[in-house]
Amino acid sequence: MSLLLRQLFDSSSCTYSYLLGDTLSSQALLIDPVYEQYNRDEALIRELGLQLVLSVDTHCHADHVSAAYLLKQHLGCKIAASERSGIQGLDRSLNHGDRLDIGNLRLDVRATPGHTNGCITLVLADQSLAFTGDCLLIRGCGRTDFQLGSAATLFSSITEQIFTLPDQCLIYPGHDYQGRAQSSVGEERQFNPRIGGAANETDFIGYMENMRLPHPKRLDEAVPANLMAGRPADGRVPRTPDWAPVVATYSGILEVSPEWVATHLDQVAVLDVRNATEQAEEPVQIAGAINIPLNQLRDRLTEIPQDRPVIALCRSGRRSAMAFTILHEEGWEQVANVQGGLLRWHAEGLPA
Ligand code: FE
Repeated sequence: MSLLLRQLFDSSSCTYSYLLGDTLSSQALLIDPVYEQYNRDEALIRELGLQLVLSVDTHCHADHVSAAYLLKQHLGCKIAASERSGIQGLDRSLNHGDRLDIGNLRLDVRATPGHTNGCITLVLADQSLAFTGDCLLIRGCGRTDFQLGSAATLFSSITEQIFTLPDQCLIYPGHDYQGRAQSSVGEERQFNPRIGGAANETDFIGYMENMRLPHPKRLDEAVPANLMAGRPADGRVPRTPDWAPVVATYSGILEVSPEWVATHLDQVAVLDVRNATEQAEEPVQIAGAINIPLNQLRDRLTEIPQDRPVIALCRSGRRSAMAFTILHEEGWEQVANVQGGLLRWHAEGLPA
């Protein structure tokens, strides 16, 4: 087994999602995926050549909608969460002591209620890392004042299920509001201001009962949606362009294949951003292409058509990705980059 771990961040809810894969079998699971980040996560899974077999939610979230249902519809993975979460439409209802096998990767399920009554922590079989959801956070913990939360229950969960793991076991939480990415069991046992050091149950409950937290902004929308595993009312994937078979990359660039461009030249404006020297050295032109070197693009935006999709092109598809970014920032909605640029255009034997 060779472990692949990617920590992904949703800035609007400060949620961490985790892509965990076994590079030998190419199987992967995604922990706590965020609905609005579906395109990003799908792109990463595709680029890394992974097969998503499972989406797991550590609990029924109140601050964001899960992407579990979308991932199942589009990538064919199964959906899992705690049996006690109340989430409908699960392929696997998890209980304490269950194990998840992803290729050669094994995760043990520990019930860690208290933030909600259906919270779980996933622990890698060798106990080198744990995904604690909203049970234990970095120098914090999940709130216990709604969704059947209980400070006494959370105290037991953290002290009996998480603080009993080895000191060096890394903690990957479900959120962090200050950008801290990971911690360890030993560190939290010592320094967590709510439950670390010599804190006992009375200290912890006293702390939690006096927090006066604001009502979660998306509670009324997120909880009902998450009880359906994030099934959206209209069933649609967020922001999928439909003007071309556009593929979103993990780096945020929208791309189209050279073949699609070659067969739709009458419907698009091809923008060739190679410089004059390159054009002289390799005087290949796509029929009807507009030539504006990348370093002049920002000053010559008025020359770019607004009435058709703009397709950026260069030698390898790297600089034209910058052209995509510039036009996107300047308000062009139908703009994409040619995958692999002229190199791939030629390799596929397309007309120039
Ligand atoms: Fe939560």
